[in-house]
Amino acid sequence: MSSLVTTRPFLFGTNLKMNQTADESGRFYVELAGSIAPPPGVQLFVIPPFTSLPATIAQKQALGGAIWVGAQNMHWATDGAYTGEISAGMLTALGVDLVLLGHAERRGLFHETDEALNQKVLAAMKTDLRVLLCVGETAAEKAYGVGPETVARQLKIALHTLDVATLPRLQIAYEPVWSIGSGGTPAHPEDVVPIAAHLRQTLQDQFGDAGTHTPILYGGSVDPRNAGSFAHLPNIDGLFVGRAAWTPTGFAQVLTSALAQRTKSGP
Ligand code: PEP
Repeated sequence: MSSLVTTRPFLFGTNLKMNQTADESGRFYVELAGSIAPPPGVQLFVIPPFTSLPATIAQKQALGGAIWVGAQNMHWATDGAYTGEISAGMLTALGVDLVLLGHAERRGLFHETDEALNQKVLAAMKTDLRVLLCVGETAAEKAYGVGPETVARQLKIALHTLDVATLPRLQIAYEPVWSIGSGGTPAHPEDVVPIAAHLRQTLQDQFGDAGTHTPILYGGSVDPRNAGSFAHLPNIDGLFVGRAAWTPTGFAQVLTSALAQRTKSGP
């Protein structure tokens, strides 16, 4: 098992939500690419707003940058009468590397369902996009003791009928809803370990050995002080950071603290 675990990369990135203009995101990318040289086995990503994607990707291409650029959402249809929506094909045509699906704000504020997410995951996988799928229980679900069931249900529905051959392009982010954003309460490692184990088991139940290799990231009020305590946990293969990584300096500080602990403890 441990030799399989070490084959997973360490992923680290930020979702910029509805922040930054196109110019600001382009500069953000340039500063990250110019100031951070991740060690082998570490993959970085940034997920700016839709309007920032062309400028950010232009900087990536100009620099030959290795930091993935992601989109925050997409529709499952290839085209049609879906005002305000963006398709997977539109994202790949721009050169987007990854699409974020099922963020807690999409689920909570925009009523995105597990069934809709299943259609989105399948549509993204028909293209060459990578998918970062978020799952996480609410405070009420945690209080009722149904966190593991909740995330397993979210995962099983979102990945229903997913072809195992597409699994190398899938990553999961465990983001407890009660821990993200400015109103969130930081989680403790002991909150994360059982859920990450349950997610791993759910992936293995559905996909067999292939489910061993899917990276699971942790996200929720991660900052330079606590990043190390999550980065080395069993079944955690990366960090998905919000507010603390919205400046190049903050991004670098959280990453450095995560990697320092990971190097000490091993993956
Ligand atoms: C998020 O909203 O996905 C998130 C991880 O935010 P923060 O780190 O700011 O809690």
